[in-house]
Amino acid sequence: AQPCWQAENIYVYGRVNYVSSSLESVISNLEQSGYRRKRAKRKRGMGSNEFWLDCVVSGLLVFPRHSKIAQHSLVRHQRALVIQDKSSCFVAQGFDAPLGWTIVDACAAPGNKSMHLISRGIEQYGESFYQHPIRVIAIDRDKERFALMHRTIHEHGYDAFIETRNVDFLKWSCDDCQGIILDPSCSGSGLLNRNWTDDLEENLQEKESQRTRLKHLSNFQKKMLRHALCDFANCCRVTYSTCSIYKEENEMVVYEVLNQVQGLGWKLVDFLPQWPRRGWKDPLDSEQAAFCVRTDPKLDHTNGFFVACFERTLHERNIRQ
Ligand code: SAM
Repeated sequence: AQPCWQAENIYVYGRVNYVSSSLESVISNLEQSGYRRKRAKRKRGMGSNEFWLDCVVSGLLVFPRHSKIAQHSLVRHQRALVIQDKSSCFVAQGFDAPLGWTIVDACAAPGNKSMHLISRGIEQYGESFYQHPIRVIAIDRDKERFALMHRTIHEHGYDAFIETRNVDFLKWSCDDCQGIILDPSCSGSGLLNRNWTDDLEENLQEKESQRTRLKHLSNFQKKMLRHALCDFANCCRVTYSTCSIYKEENEMVVYEVLNQVQGLGWKLVDFLPQWPRRGWKDPLDSEQAAFCVRTDPKLDHTNGFFVACFERTLHERNIRQ
């Protein structure tokens, strides 16, 4: 099976690491080393040393596919710029964590979304962030991936704000978190170079093993989402995301779990409303689908991705008061 989108359609993205740098400083460093900021709308025929600012994710710089930005010292040595796909940045951008919140990143390794949450908080709140910092508890059950995440968080200067734990999320809970980001293992069918097709109705033989795997993944994802929504007494915001293009891992998980947790006060809320591509209407209703976010790797110059956000007011509190 071949993915039906092309590598050259996907741009390279670098987000500013606000723990140690700023947008101005990164841009000035890039310009001094021969990069040029492009302001015009037309992006075709971009030179490899050009970049522009993304208009959805703040502090995100966009480079053409053939750019050598990943080798730049801002990325490799100074760690002022972190390579992270645009769609993966949607979670922290849309989560909009209030000051003082503790957020559990339930499937955190290698730590991209945990670090982006903190970086985004510093960008958004400036000096106030340090008075009422957002804290992240970054969990991953896989030993090796956990070790990599722990090292990366340290190397990028996030130790003061992110606590790491090598535990199974399904066997763990806490009463003092206000938010959870849940980005569980998935088919990765939205990523380049994965052996998934975008149409499960074609190529039936191969499809059978894909369908079985999809079923297992989907059951696991529902279990994880149920745990996030049911077993954290003071949690009032949960995002669920995957880098899958299949509704079995996206809208169907959201739909089924939402029905199973009725009575706990959770509802879907509009996530990143400025992004135009929304969830699918089957099986969600029109309003619910319009609240969810999707990206299409064929059209959006980013990996295929899905995010839904649940909120409840039942236990909402402002811990700064
Ligand atoms: N959120 C990460 C990021 O943006 O860098 C990527 C997470 S990756 C898609 C899924 C992760 O979930 C894997 O590292 C896997 O080890 C972890 N995982 C799977 N099941 C888990 C569980 N029951 N408890 C904790 N972590 C789990």
